[in-house]
Amino acid sequence: MAEKLGVYICSGCDIGKSLDVDSLLDTVKKGKLASICPVVKKSAVLCSPDAVTEIEADIKEAGLDGVVLCACSPRVKWDIFQFGATQVERVNLREQCVWSFREDPKVPGLLPLMAQDYVKMGVMKLSKSRIPAPEVPETNKTILVLGGGFTGLTAALEAAKLGKDVVLVEQAATLGGKAATMYKTFPMSHPYLKAEDTGIDQLIADATSNAKIKVLTSANLVSLEGAPGLYTATVNAGGEQQFAIGAVVLATGWVPGDKGFLAPMGYGSIKNVVTAAEFEAMAKAGSIVRPSDGQAPASVAFLTDVSLCTKGSTAGTADVCAPVDPLPEKAAEGEPEVSAYPDKESAKHLAYSSELTSLVALKQAGYVREKLGQSVAFVLYDHMMVPGINERYYKAAQDDAGIMLSKASITAVTEDADGGVIVAAKDTLLGADIEIKADLVVLPTAIVPVTAHEPTMNLVYRQGPGFPDLELFDGFVDSNYICFPYETRRTGVYAAGCVRQPMTLAGAKEDAAGAVLKAVQCIGSANRGVAVHPRSGDISFPVFNFQRCTQCKRCTEECPFGALDDDEKGTPKPNPTRCRRCGTCMGACPERVISFDNYNIDQIGSMIKEVYVPDDMVAGGPRVIVLVCENDAYPALDMAAFRGKSWSPFVRFVPVRCLGSVNAIWVADAVSKGVDGVIMLGCKYGPDYQCHFVKGSELCSRRKTNIAESLGRLGVEAERVEQYEVSIDEYDKVPAIIERFMTEVITKFGPNPFKGY
Ligand code: SF4
Ligand code: SF4
Repeated sequence: MAEKLGVYICSGCDIGKSLDVDSLLDTVKKGKLASICPVVKKSAVLCSPDAVTEIEADIKEAGLDGVVLCACSPRVKWDIFQFGATQVERVNLREQCVWSFREDPKVPGLLPLMAQDYVKMGVMKLSKSRIPAPEVPETNKTILVLGGGFTGLTAALEAAKLGKDVVLVEQAATLGGKAATMYKTFPMSHPYLKAEDTGIDQLIADATSNAKIKVLTSANLVSLEGAPGLYTATVNAGGEQQFAIGAVVLATGWVPGDKGFLAPMGYGSIKNVVTAAEFEAMAKAGSIVRPSDGQAPASVAFLTDVSLCTKGSTAGTADVCAPVDPLPEKAAEGEPEVSAYPDKESAKHLAYSSELTSLVALKQAGYVREKLGQSVAFVLYDHMMVPGINERYYKAAQDDAGIMLSKASITAVTEDADGGVIVAAKDTLLGADIEIKADLVVLPTAIVPVTAHEPTMNLVYRQGPGFPDLELFDGFVDSNYICFPYETRRTGVYAAGCVRQPMTLAGAKEDAAGAVLKAVQCIGSANRGVAVHPRSGDISFPVFNFQRCTQCKRCTEECPFGALDDDEKGTPKPNPTRCRRCGTCMGACPERVISFDNYNIDQIGSMIKEVYVPDDMVAGGPRVIVLVCENDAYPALDMAAFRGKSWSPFVRFVPVRCLGSVNAIWVADAVSKGVDGVIMLGCKYGPDYQCHFVKGSELCSRRKTNIAESLGRLGVEAERVEQYEVSIDEYDKVPAIIERFMTEVITKFGPNPFKGY
């Protein structure tokens, strides 16, 4: 516990203009907190070099074990306010107090009270904090790469370049994966005009001759046991072998989706309708021919619009094929996508083309020109998506007199008597409906990540061998598409290439390097006993008071990252290097068994207790506690304040690591002390989630239902506790969210019946 604190209040940045700083100092000097705060000072500009030097001197002379800095948001100037082992608590007087303060005409002059609350909350929070001691295991440094295709080989070579030993496991008898089946790939180098060799043969040669890379083909991962930095991988390659592994790059790629989806466009019934992958295979084999007669086609039509399939399917099975949410947007090279799971309830068929659909059509039209002499190609697209430098590739196709490109919505694909294929289309650039007769028609098909079908990881984790909730994401593994592209929901396993997201080979190359960097970072972080992401460098981890544990298993079940195993009785077994320090387990535990040295139930509960709640709501106004997620909601509040937004003076913000860490006891404490309402402000959840800890805000929402039931039993309206979602760029919505709660809940229900007890 921090027992000797220094408290510093800044007068700069409008704080001194808005507040009587001397009287605010007295809140600490003359109050119950005085005994633990031997140093209480004000500063004209706390972030100035002189002020920082003064704080350093005080720490030394007074032996302070913590400093409470009441000034600007903790999200700014954090690099200035670093004092070695001395703990720092930032009280956000600037953004969340003076800048965003709005007078209430019925209860004027509340700013000093608000500032006092925040200063006391900050002192109390730090007084309940201990400096965590990191657990520092001796870690393995070898990287396991799963998948020996383009991405896996690139990842293995990148890791070797960084000095890491690599074990590369490939299921097939040969290396190369899908890239080895391609004739060419899109341009990857200047001038970006022509399809290129994939370079896969060179990659295979480089990897197999690299002394740091152990290549195992016809091999599979039997199990991965342990935790980041401490894994034991059992691999079967004609006999089982074990490897000590630090982190894993998952590069297992993709498989083609169900081609039956393309039936409304003639696939399966018209002989000369093939998929892009089948066409690619012909080009690779050296002869592009019509399946009906083995003759070279004089004309080939590449279609990217497959809405006909969606419409056709919709007529019969509306639920299955409705375009619920158009993800994934892109497909793998050589086999462009339109859907992921035509046969599943969760089917998501794209109603438009993607970058890969467009590029594959352009590339294969080029094959026609290259390999078939005078033959012509038609590319009928609904949307031509060629972002970035690929615009040059598109223009090169436009300049080829033998490639005809037109926007077109396909209305029918039928077979002519002579075996030709008639494609009817509307909405064309020609302004009229058209019919084209081609010798061969090429259709895109779906890409499905390998993880949709196979457990792949075979993790020996309490939560199971694979990644959770894959069906929500069409089988693609991810932890947070927006902020952490390579992370999966299992710390230490980093996904790259088409198992993560459909992409080009150029994209896969970058992806492989990115995932390897994360794997290296993970091993280094595990070795230092700190979190790798998203709380990079955090040395805290959950500590369990097992004497009180009832083995209810909530923590082991709810941890979004499978960090907790358990024994036969159900007692949790922490794995600190798997842990992301989100606190979701702490929020889950009904017995309050779990805490972090510097983030715990008592600490946040004590902060809430410091909020002054007037007995008379009419005279003193209501009070609302806002539990704010530090990841998006808190910066959104800061940005709103920075842009001059203001809100009710009756709210008090309490930052939390994630809404998943919110323990029901905090809400109960707040309500029992007369607080009139509690807002939980966090990230979006559901399929388009933005929660940095994947499940936190969703779990909070579920727990809110239980909290509401408990409140109902106490005779307190359930509506007094509400959860709102906000993303980091929705700062302009924050005032309205608060306003809505104040009018729809507080004004409507009046004072908390517990007020005054
Ligand atoms: S819930 Fe979060 S803090 Fe708790 S063990 Fe899992 S990752 Fe760690
Ligand atoms: S949630 Fe708490 S009581 Fe339940 S198993 Fe976990 S630590 Fe034990």
